[in-house]
Amino acid sequence: EKPRLVDDEEGGVLFFSASASSSSGYGYASMEKQRQRLPVYKYRTAILYLVETHATTIIVGETGSGKTTQIPQYIKEAGWTDGGRVIACTQPRRLAVQAVASRVVEEMGVKLGEEVGYTIRFEDLTKPDVTAVKFLTDGVLLREMMDDPLLTKYSVIMVDEAHERSISTDILLGLLKKIQRRRPDLRLIISSATIEAKSMADFFRTSKKRRELKSMEGGLLMEPAILSVEGRGFNVEINYAEEPVPDYVQATVSTVLLIHEQEPSGDILVFLTGQDDIDASVQLLNEETQTSRKNSSGLIILPLYSGLPRAEQELVFSPAPRGKRKVVVSTNIAETSITLEGIVYVVDSGFSKQRFYNPISDIENLVVAPISKASARQRTGRAGRVRPGKCYRMYTEEYYIKDMPDEGIPEIQRSNLVSCVIQLKALGIDNILGFDWPASPSPEAMIRALEVLYSLGVLDDDAKLTSPTGFQVAEIPLDPMISKMLIASSQCGCSEEIITIAAVLSIQSIWISGRGIQREFDEAKLRFAAAEGDHVTFLNVYKAFLQSGKSSQWCHKNHVNYHAMRKVLEVREQLKRIAQRIGLVLKSCEGDMRAVRKAVTSGFFANACRLEAYSNDGMYKTIRGSQEVYIHPSSVLFRVNPKWVIYSSLVSTDKQYMRNVISIDPSWLLEAAPQFYQQRPNPLH
Ligand code: ADP
Ligand code: MG
Repeated sequence: EKPRLVDDEEGGVLFFSASASSSSGYGYASMEKQRQRLPVYKYRTAILYLVETHATTIIVGETGSGKTTQIPQYIKEAGWTDGGRVIACTQPRRLAVQAVASRVVEEMGVKLGEEVGYTIRFEDLTKPDVTAVKFLTDGVLLREMMDDPLLTKYSVIMVDEAHERSISTDILLGLLKKIQRRRPDLRLIISSATIEAKSMADFFRTSKKRRELKSMEGGLLMEPAILSVEGRGFNVEINYAEEPVPDYVQATVSTVLLIHEQEPSGDILVFLTGQDDIDASVQLLNEETQTSRKNSSGLIILPLYSGLPRAEQELVFSPAPRGKRKVVVSTNIAETSITLEGIVYVVDSGFSKQRFYNPISDIENLVVAPISKASARQRTGRAGRVRPGKCYRMYTEEYYIKDMPDEGIPEIQRSNLVSCVIQLKALGIDNILGFDWPASPSPEAMIRALEVLYSLGVLDDDAKLTSPTGFQVAEIPLDPMISKMLIASSQCGCSEEIITIAAVLSIQSIWISGRGIQREFDEAKLRFAAAEGDHVTFLNVYKAFLQSGKSSQWCHKNHVNYHAMRKVLEVREQLKRIAQRIGLVLKSCEGDMRAVRKAVTSGFFANACRLEAYSNDGMYKTIRGSQEVYIHPSSVLFRVNPKWVIYSSLVSTDKQYMRNVISIDPSWLLEAAPQFYQQRPNPLH
């Protein structure tokens, strides 16, 4: 019952059906043929031989060549799952995990969650002793190591999308290298879309004990094998902007319309950065198709980003009905993690959302930043999968040649390391600076992380996990600040409320906003707005949602995202179970919002800010690093500007904006983290 794009005869409007009649139309045989046409198929025997004989096999192949969907199947067919063993295939992104798992399930003709399953945070579709091929995020595999440090149930672990260098991938690679020395039966496959196989091989080759490499353990070669899968990409013509583009959203929209007007059939893939600009561009394109029917009728416009409901995600894989042209407006998820068939035109904004962390100011945020040449080439390549294609870059050729960096920076070198440190500590790795990293994090960032963890009461004077707090925080699959807030809520007697808040914070947004409906949206929000701030507002929304009988109409009326609320319910249940497991007391504070604010402070004290006395434009400064920050217009405290606030995250556009803000009493800061605030000269006056 996969949703598919269906042509509505009457208005030429599109809707999607999830009816049972949506059979894919492929028989089993034809699916088998499709599999054999993929470039990796020719390498099947070679891959199996290398995996058999080498501890580590590095496989490089263009996106769409069949690495992710085929290799786990080959490995299974070769008997690596006999005797109840499991193959793991990791992805940096949740959405990719779901997409590839459902594809493999379809190819194998099995049911999701049985032989083939997936696990992402808060969603486990696997069955013990039944699931043999498991797709999961690299973060989830890291968590599994807390219970099973040698990952004994896996016979083969495929670390996919290694070129992305996500923070969890890097930690995982370092740990797997350690595990390998203890488990000669384990096989690693590192797969990636770009050629940095050599540095990866160097990483797995350099051993403190060089002798180990030469020795063969039972015929096993420790030297990593490298295999490169020849793709069959077609030529892609590249078109640059003639002048720098002032507004990349507008520019991509105009380019899509131009392609549609002037170019022969073929689908369009647009790379933007995130939900905001994707929604904006989808809306502009839809307006265009409704007003000027001549130019743009026949366009089917689909967004693609994580946080989209499953049914909508799956739509992007559905072919466009005859005579229509599909436009997929995506984040960089479509760069290498998932393959879309039928793309002939690519529009590259030149940007993506990237995490940046400054250890001096201790501020981490997601920033829209220029991509690297490596990414630009990947994006371009998406246009040449089925036939020669065209790529439109929304930047000048001069910019590409002179200013665009060659490679991106590994995420571990631009992230806050708090979660990373806690996970390594929980795995018993104490010398974190001396850890064997594929790319070393900065010592400043490491020291900052240790300092925060010490103040949170997670690490003791010897930088070991404290008991019970440290171990409890490590056990909860959330940002350590959220986890600490949860643990504190047990003492404050408001864990029921804080679990709801934690669930909401783990979701992108519970609101539906959009251009042109700002006023209605603000009014809707006002119905729930709490003077204390956004966290308490979330509680009001949640309560009203329950009172409505979890109604989707109620959500619609109040600009609340129904799917997000379902997710909140789900996450809430899971968090409740975790809370019980680690011995927290589940209790409601029955409206005592002081307790709730105190619990929030216990987790997020490091994000405290004070309104500048002489500021008339709502400028705050962080107490920690004296950084200028402002309350985000989406917050219920926007323009209210209480003197003391705590935020949960920052976004930076023209300024640094605090999202999810709550007002506090400054004396709670000293209570929550005496070491953190006492050393500073008079920070609270
Ligand atoms: P790689 O990992 O090398 O980028 P994949 O294994 O993801 O390649 O994809 C191989 C092929 O499988 C794609 O070219 C596409 O034809 C098909 N495919 C993958 N995922 C899907 C999907 N969700 N729906 C339809 N076809 C898919
Ligand atoms: Mg892949």
